[in-house]
Amino acid sequence: MTEALHIVCPHCDAVNRIPAGRIDDRPRCGGCHEPLFTARPVKLIAARFHAHITRNDIPVVVDFWAPWCGPCKTMAPRFVQAAGELEPRVRLAKVNTETEPALGAQLAIRSIPTLVLFKGGREVTRQPGAMATADIVRWVRTQGT
Ligand SMILES: [Zn+2]
Repeated sequence: MTEALHIVCPHCDAVNRIPAGRIDDRPRCGGCHEPLFTARPVKLIAARFHAHITRNDIPVVVDFWAPWCGPCKTMAPRFVQAAGELEPRVRLAKVNTETEPALGAQLAIRSIPTLVLFKGGREVTRQPGAMATADIVRWVRTQGT
């Protein structure tokens, strides 16, 4: 029996059903045929946020940031590196709280950057403050992912 994972396409938002044993085989989207994992965080706007948080069977770690925030800029390349290390077990995503203030308010984001880890659409934990790449990876992995 093969377990299947639902993975939301970072390009077209289609929900793909991938056998768990094939997750490491560079799966492509059945809708747009683009790779489902590109070692880059997915930029989420409000219209896409819910689908990515609730329809992915893998955990989703969201970086809430803003363009005016120095520590956010410092952490941005580290977050990309962390995506390269954590995919395809975890999806990394970013929300610009300046252009998506409703999402920041909805999640009660009080300081940025803040990382929020979701599983099955529910927040598991969050971590405010800029982190180094290794700390991001370690923090995510200690959450049972
Ligand atoms: Zn797609």
